[in-house]
Amino acid sequence: MASATVDGRRVLVTGGAGFIGSHLVDALVEDNEVRVLDDFSTGRRAHVHPDATVIEGDIRDPATVAEAMADVDLVFHEAANASVTRSVDDPVASHRVNATGALTLLERARRADARVVVASSTAIYGNPTTIPVTEEEPTTPTSPYGVEKLAVDHYARLYHDLYGLDTVALRYFNVYGPRQACADYSSVITVFLEQACSGQPITVEGDGSQIRDFVHVSDVVRANVLAATTDRVGEAYNVGTGRSVSILDLARLVADLTDGESDVTHVDPRPGDIEASRADISKARRELGYEPSVGLQDGLAALIDGDADGFRP
Ligand code: NAD
Repeated sequence: MASATVDGRRVLVTGGAGFIGSHLVDALVEDNEVRVLDDFSTGRRAHVHPDATVIEGDIRDPATVAEAMADVDLVFHEAANASVTRSVDDPVASHRVNATGALTLLERARRADARVVVASSTAIYGNPTTIPVTEEEPTTPTSPYGVEKLAVDHYARLYHDLYGLDTVALRYFNVYGPRQACADYSSVITVFLEQACSGQPITVEGDGSQIRDFVHVSDVVRANVLAATTDRVGEAYNVGTGRSVSILDLARLVADLTDGESDVTHVDPRPGDIEASRADISKARRELGYEPSVGLQDGLAALIDGDADGFRP
């Protein structure tokens, strides 16, 4: 596995109080001057490393973005409405944060000539025609969130092609790990763990045959660090594990790893749910040297043990 480090830099992590962003900050803060821009809409101040400088503000506001970007030469853009459900409920509000917010950031980065690594998503593929999903898969998002992430993904490439900015888009699959909020389908692991640990039945939507590629947050952090140092800019990469598990098997695994007492029950399927998702990560392997290192069973066991530091990138 390729090892890359980022040190001696002034780095901005947007959404640095959130699930993925706060782990990125932890990985960078020792060797870099790290700034966090977050509006704390879903992020938590307690998750931000005390050595990072916090700017509380909105990614949609150009003046706030300019302040956060001052003298910064590397940005990890994680700030977003990360909830598909919220994007369906209020697509205009979600677009403003996810698409316009990202564009506001890229525009400021263009002036500062700062490298930007953006959080894209598997949601851009919608229902893939082929499994595993390569980066060449047609993009047919099934939610406003997916359309917004597709815009971000394209803007990142375009800012490279048009303006020569160093950008990389990372298409995360289903990320899990410590500090993940129990909010949306992407956090089905958090939902299952909470149910199992409180003695409730684990509720599987539909028959549970849907498959997902769950990638541990420490591997996502490593992919970001590799993207920060690669010379393969203007590119987009899948960030998953290349393995998948069905939701039913995940529920059984969670039940086994907890006390095995929880029943697995079924509720109505979610309308429009994606049937299958598994990343082909050969491009990230080949061009970034990315190699996922945390298997699902180990990642789940560490979560159950409350071992937040078990997989430091
Ligand atoms: P999160 O909700 O934990 O983090 C998002 C952060 O952005 C939060 O701290 C929130 O307060 C902040 N934020 C939201 N709106 C903002 C605004 N207008 N201005 C400033 N800050 C704002 O979500 P996460 O799971 O850590 O996701 C991080 C990124 O990864 C997002 O871009 C998300 O779309 C993407 N992603 C996540 C997953 C996943 O499985 N978690 C999968 C694919 C893509």
